[in-house]
Amino acid sequence: MRRKNQFKGVNSIKFHSAFSSDDACLAYLADLKWNDAYSCRKCGHDKFYKGFKPHSRRCMKCKYDESPTANTMFDKCKFSIQVAFHIAFKISTKKKGMSSMELSEEFELRQKTCWEFKWKIQQAMQSSCNYPLNGTIHVDEFYIGGEEEGKRGRSKGKKKLVVVALEIVEGGVGRAYAKVIQDASANSFKSFFNAHISKDARIITDEWNGYKPLKKEFSRLEQVKSDRGAGLPELHIHIMNLKGWLRGIHHHCSEERLQGYLDEYHFRYNRRNNMDTIFDLLIKRMVRNKPIRLTIVS
Ligand SMILES: [Zn+2]
Repeated sequence: MRRKNQFKGVNSIKFHSAFSSDDACLAYLADLKWNDAYSCRKCGHDKFYKGFKPHSRRCMKCKYDESPTANTMFDKCKFSIQVAFHIAFKISTKKKGMSSMELSEEFELRQKTCWEFKWKIQQAMQSSCNYPLNGTIHVDEFYIGGEEEGKRGRSKGKKKLVVVALEIVEGGVGRAYAKVIQDASANSFKSFFNAHISKDARIITDEWNGYKPLKKEFSRLEQVKSDRGAGLPELHIHIMNLKGWLRGIHHHCSEERLQGYLDEYHFRYNRRNNMDTIFDLLIKRMVRNKPIRLTIVS
């Protein structure tokens, strides 16, 4: 069903007036959560009364009172829902996002608290894998977090290997995805290709052996001479920008943490021409995604 109050745009004045209180944010969450249909989480009943807490709903059958934040990524948030909305707005609409240090300064919160919330946001920014890249796709890998020298192969120590795929469209570039991989083997590439690239796509890689076995499943895969990136210029500009952004916001981080940053970068990148609905989409994902326990340390 169409939602009447869907927030659109990146204008921060409009944003501030739309979400000037916790109540406005809770109303937005309740609308997102139950707009399609209400169903009690405990017993599945579909009729409700107004609940006791603001914008909560109480099941007519089992009397379970559910708040708009229950069982969402906003569950047990350490700061107000209004602050959570403002952080989500900044991270989704600012071209380069915001580091936990910047968030900590701006919202007067502990950096660790910001870091934890940002980690949740990055989880919500993961690709749904529902829209694989199509058409002409350029693929390559790069190292991050260490020396670039040495043979292509495994991630070693602080050095992490990342594979990236970029859609080439008429007059420019389309969407892109990236994934941290253990090594430059066909097996590692395969899970990335299966998740993000259409079987009919025309895929161009360099002559690295690891790509060869993928031709069985991706019949339009072509290998060209790379000549230090000169063969795939758009992709190498993309990698350069991505690396620059990564270097600016973090130094050494775990593999899972790096994947979070890659997801964040591409969530924004792939919507750079649809910024109108990017905030709403992020909030929607945070409502639909289950709450996550933080087990990752940087
Ligand atoms: Zn119930």
